[in-house]
Amino acid sequence: MNSRDSEHMIAELREKEGYETTDDFKQADLILINTCSVRERPVHKLFSELGGFNKHKKPSAKIGVCGCTASHLGEEIIKKAPYVNFVLGARNVSKITEVLHKNKAVEIDINYDESEFAFKDFRTSAYKGFINISIGCDKACTFCIVPKTRGDEISIPDSLIINEAKRIVATGAKEIFLLGQNVNNYGRRFSSNDHKKVNFSELLRRLSKIEKLERIRFTSPHPFHMDDEFIEEFASNPKICKSMHMPLQSGSTKVLKDMKRGYTKEWFLNRVAKLRSMCPEATISTDIIVGFPGESDEDFAETIDVLNQVKFEQVFSFKYSPRPETEAEHFTNVVDGEVASDRLSFLQSLNNEIIDEKNATLLGNTYRIYFEVLHSDGHAAGRSDNNILVKVKGSEELLGQMKNVKITTIGRTILTGEIVA
Ligand code: SF4
Repeated sequence: MNSRDSEHMIAELREKEGYETTDDFKQADLILINTCSVRERPVHKLFSELGGFNKHKKPSAKIGVCGCTASHLGEEIIKKAPYVNFVLGARNVSKITEVLHKNKAVEIDINYDESEFAFKDFRTSAYKGFINISIGCDKACTFCIVPKTRGDEISIPDSLIINEAKRIVATGAKEIFLLGQNVNNYGRRFSSNDHKKVNFSELLRRLSKIEKLERIRFTSPHPFHMDDEFIEEFASNPKICKSMHMPLQSGSTKVLKDMKRGYTKEWFLNRVAKLRSMCPEATISTDIIVGFPGESDEDFAETIDVLNQVKFEQVFSFKYSPRPETEAEHFTNVVDGEVASDRLSFLQSLNNEIIDEKNATLLGNTYRIYFEVLHSDGHAAGRSDNNILVKVKGSEELLGQMKNVKITTIGRTILTGEIVA
C-alpha cells in the first residue's frame, strides 16, 4: 500500500508541479520518505536516514516525511528533525501538492476521506498496476498500529476501480493487483450510500469482464471474511490468480483471541481445507508473529501444528515487537526475548524444510510465466498464475510476455526453467 501511495504522490507532483523522479537524491529538489510503522525497526531507521539526506542534499531541497510513521509521530518529527519541511500522514496522500507550499505543514488527519479523490496516473511497472480498493481498517488487532495511522475502513467506489483497471489494461499491462488492509471486507462502507450492493466477490466478477485483462491478484484478504462465496469465486474465476495470502498470525486459538483476530485455529484450517478442495493448484502464503505476550510453549506448538498441516508456500514470520497506541503494548505477560528468538528460528528452519520439500516436486512441471523483471545475470523473471517465481535465460524482449516454462532447476526462492512451446 505504501508503494501505491508513493505512486499516487509522484503522479500528483508530476501533473500539478512538473516534478520528475531521479535515482540520485543529491540532484533532487524534493525528497519524500514514505514510512512504515508496522514494526519498530523502520521507525528507528527513519531518523538516521533523515540525517543522511539532510547532510548531502542540495541546500534548497525540501524534505517531506509521509506514511504511517508520519501519522503517528506527527509534529514530533519536525521537533526532532527541524529541517523537515512537512509531515504528511498515510490518509492524506492527496494533499501532497498543498503541503509542499506550506511551511512546516503537518497533515495527519486519520479521518480524512480521500476514497473518491481522482489521483493522476503514475506506475512504476509497465506490466502490472496496483489499485487501492479501500483505505483504512476497521479491525482492532491488539498488536497492530494500522487503524491508528490509516483510520477507519472506507471502500473506493467500484466505478473508480473499474475505470482505473481499464486505464491500466489500455497501456498494455495484463495484470492488476488490488490492495487493501482487508480486501475481502470490500463494500462494508463507502463515502456515499449509492454504492452499497457491491461486495468483494462481486467486484472481482465485474473486474474480470474487462477485455485483455488476464490476471487479477489481491492482498490482503482476512481469514475472518473468507466465506464460501469468496472462496468459490476465487476458485472458479479463471482471471483470478491462484495464490492466496492468509495471514494466520498464530495457530493458538487462545493467542488469536488475545490478538482479537476474530477467528479460531479450527476456522482457519477449515478455510484452508475448503480452498484446497475447490482449488488444489492454489498456493498459500501467510504472516506469523512469534512471542506475542502470553504465548506459551503449547501455544507455539499449535502454530507449528498449523505449519505442518497447511505447508504454506511462503511464510513471513516476525518476532513480536510492541507498537505504540496498541492494546498489546500494555500487556504485561511478555515473552522472554531469547525464547521468542529461538521460536522464530525453529519456525523458519521448519518452513525452509517444507519449502525445499515442496519445491522439489515442481521439477519438470510447466507453468505459464508472465515476465516482468530483468536480472543482471542475463535472466528474465516472472510469476506463474499461482505465484511461483521463475527465471529463464533471456532479455528485454521477454518483458510483458507470457510464456510456457518448464522447470529445470530448483531453488528455495526462485526456480530456473526454459521456455517451451
Ligand atoms: S486487520 Fe488487524 S493486522 Fe490487519 S491492518 Fe487491520 S488491525 Fe492491522
